[in-house]
Amino acid sequence: VSSAAERFDFFYFVQQWPGSFCDTSRGCCFPDTGKPAADFGIHGLWPNYAKCHGGDDDGQARRAVLGDDAAAASLSGVGRRGKCWPQYCDDENALSPWAIRDLVASLSRSWPTLSCKSGDSFEFWSYEWKKHGTCSNLEPHDYFARALALKAAHNLTEILAAAGIVPSESESYSISSVSDAIRKGTAFTANLECNRDTDGQTQLYQVYQCVDKEGKQLIDCPLHMRSKCGDDQIKLPLF
Ligand code: 5GP
Ligand code: 5GP
Repeated sequence: VSSAAERFDFFYFVQQWPGSFCDTSRGCCFPDTGKPAADFGIHGLWPNYAKCHGGDDDGQARRAVLGDDAAAASLSGVGRRGKCWPQYCDDENALSPWAIRDLVASLSRSWPTLSCKSGDSFEFWSYEWKKHGTCSNLEPHDYFARALALKAAHNLTEILAAAGIVPSESESYSISSVSDAIRKGTAFTANLECNRDTDGQTQLYQVYQCVDKEGKQLIDCPLHMRSKCGDDQIKLPLF
């Protein structure tokens, strides 16, 4: 069924804070299953290279990135630094609802869509499967089950709350206190991504944790992203 093993070095396990997805100028919509909990939700489990590849002669990345026209049109895996991750590795391999039927209840809670394009979270899961999951060397059930297990094993909302970092309209927190809390709670350093609310205030949007190629254990990140959070205080808005 699946083609040759995809070469990559680690996964980014990415979770989004729903309050920060929703309070931007773009806004959000709740899924058909209702308002999600005030908890980090899964965005994806993304195969990544430890080093971006420079040339156009890299067979693996090229094949993956040029997998279809849509992918070729938005070469998000390719930037000035080269190809940084594989994507769209097998467009024939669409996600079947049947393959994850026992995970649907759990996925609906932990991986809800907040996009206004569709209230059907399955569309979000199939998009993530097609773009990233098909490059993971995992079967769909393992891919989704491992993401769920990672979230459950390291509950970011609880980890932050234990450090006094709780959603608030008025409070803000230093980026280092957020980073330290996650390091203390998970034993590994995460990458933080911020965005801005409608007032232009910087807020914690996504947390990127690095995971081994099996999708099982957190690891030290081979690659640290440039933080878009600045050096200032950041918010964790209510949801
Ligand atoms: P953005 O440009 O919003 O940061 O990312 C757009 C999309 O590109 C993400 O949703 C994700 O699918 C992909 N992407 C962004 N950064 C990374 C990365 O570091 N690794 C991988 N594998 N995909 C990424
Ligand atoms: P990526 O940034 O992973 O390439 O793209 C995420 C895609 O999934 C976007 O096209 C977005 O419209 C869709 N999507 C559906 N639900 C969500 C959600 O809750 N959060 C994010 N970030 N994207 C979502």
